[in-house]
Amino acid sequence: MANFEVVLFDADNTLFDFDRAEDAALRGVLAARGYPTDGETLGRYLSINRALWARLDRGEVTQSWLVVERFAAFARAMGREDDPVSFNRDYLDRLAQGAFLLPGAEELCRALAPHCTLALITNGVARAQRGRLARSPLGTVIPHLFISEEVGAAKPSPAFFEPVLRQLGNPRRERVLVVGDNLATDIRGGLEAGLPTAWYNPGHLPNTTPWTPRWEVASYAGLAALILEAPTSQIEIKEK
Ligand SMILES: [Mg+2]
Repeated sequence: MANFEVVLFDADNTLFDFDRAEDAALRGVLAARGYPTDGETLGRYLSINRALWARLDRGEVTQSWLVVERFAAFARAMGREDDPVSFNRDYLDRLAQGAFLLPGAEELCRALAPHCTLALITNGVARAQRGRLARSPLGTVIPHLFISEEVGAAKPSPAFFEPVLRQLGNPRRERVLVVGDNLATDIRGGLEAGLPTAWYNPGHLPNTTPWTPRWEVASYAGLAALILEAPTSQIEIKEK
C-alpha cells in the first residue's frame, strides 16, 4: 500500500516546464505584435510579471487584474500603445499550446497512478492550464485538475484546499500529500490545511521563508520513494 491515498501536485515547475512554455508563448506573441524578441525585451516582461505574481502570492492583488496589468505595464515600459486585454488573451492561447513536461514527470505519474489518486492543484490561468494538461501525456494519467480561478480561491488559502478535499471524497488528511516547488503557495497552503507537504526542490535552494515542509525532495526518484516505498518515518534523510 502506498504511503498516501491522494497526491496533490502543483503543476508549473513541479511537473510542467513552465519556463519553456512561457518562453515559447512570449516570443510568439511579441513577434506577432511587432515587438522585439531579444533577451532584454523578454527580461523586461519577465521581471514585471514576476513582481506581480509575488504580489498575488501575498494577497495584494487579484489574478484577473494581474494578467492584464502585466501587459499594460510592459507596453508602457516599451513606450507603446497596446490593448493589454487582447495582448494577454493572445499570450494565454499560445501558452495553452505549451504542454512541455519536465523530464521524468510522465514516468513518475504513471508509476504513482495505480497506487494513489493524482490531482493537479494550480493557481495558473484556467484558459491556459486546461489546454496544457489536455495536450500533455498527463491528460490521461491525472484525472483531477483544480484551478484556483474555478475553485474560487487560490493557494495558499485553506478556502482553496477545502473544496478540493471535498471533491476528492474527504480523505484522511494525513493520507494526502501536497507536492510543490513554491514554499509560499504550495507548502504554506498544505501546512495551513493540515496536510503533509513535500517541497520539490531540485535546485537545492535555501528555504528563506517561515514555512517548513515535512519533507524536501530534490528528485522524482526521491518523491516516488516517499510516496510508494519506505515507511515515511524511515525517510529521515529527506526530513527537514
Ligand atoms: Mg509551481
